Amino acid sequence: MSDAPDRAAALRAYAEETAGCTRCPLAATRTQVVFGSGNPDADLLFVGEAPGFHEDQNGVPFVGQAGKLLDRLLAGIGLERSDIFVANVLKCRPPQNRDPQPEEIASCEPHLFRQIELIQPKLVATLGNFATKLLSGRSFGTCQDRPSASSRSPASVSTSPTFSKLSARSRCRLVLPGSDAASLWRINRLLR
Ligand code: SF4
Repeated sequence: MSDAPDRAAALRAYAEETAGCTRCPLAATRTQVVFGSGNPDADLLFVGEAPGFHEDQNGVPFVGQAGKLLDRLLAGIGLERSDIFVANVLKCRPPQNRDPQPEEIASCEPHLFRQIELIQPKLVATLGNFATKLLSGRSFGTCQDRPSASSRSPASVSTSPTFSKLSARSRCRLVLPGSDAASLWRINRLLR
C-alpha cells in the first residue's frame, strides 16, 4: 500500500481496532489506549516509552512538560506536531508510570511496527531507552550513553530484525537522538 490517503485510512482503522486491545494486563488499568498522533504521512516518527498520567487522561502522547519540550525543540527546526507523528512503545499507561515489562513490550510491539509500516516515515527517532532497545535490538539503551554519535552516523545504527525487515521495504532509517537541540538539527538535515 503506497498511496498516502489509503495509508492514512488504514492507520485510522488500525487506531480504532487498537482502542479495544486487551493483549496485555495494562488493558485493565488504563483510561484509554494512546495510539499516537500527528501526520499519518509524516517523514519523521518519534517513538517514546509509554503514556504517563496526562497522556492516559487525554489520549494523546507527549503532553505536559515532556510535550512542551518536544514542541520547543521541533519549533527550533521549523517543524510542528502536525508535521510529524508521535507514538510510544506501549500504548497503555503502566500503573504509577513504572517501567514497561518485557511481556508488555512483546505484546504491544506489533502495534508500533504496524504504525511504521503504514506511515512509512523516512526517519524513526527514539525518545528514551525502551524505544532504543526495541528498535535497535541492543541490549542497552543508548540515548543517555551515547546520545550524539549515533545520530551523527545514522548509517551505522544497528536495528532489530523486525525493524530491519521494515526498513528494507520502506527504506526508513533509525536514529537515536539525544534530547537536545543539536540532535534535532541533525535529524532535520537527514530529512532533507
Ligand atoms: S499496552 Fe499495548 S498490548 Fe497492552 S493492552 Fe495496551 S495496546 Fe494492548
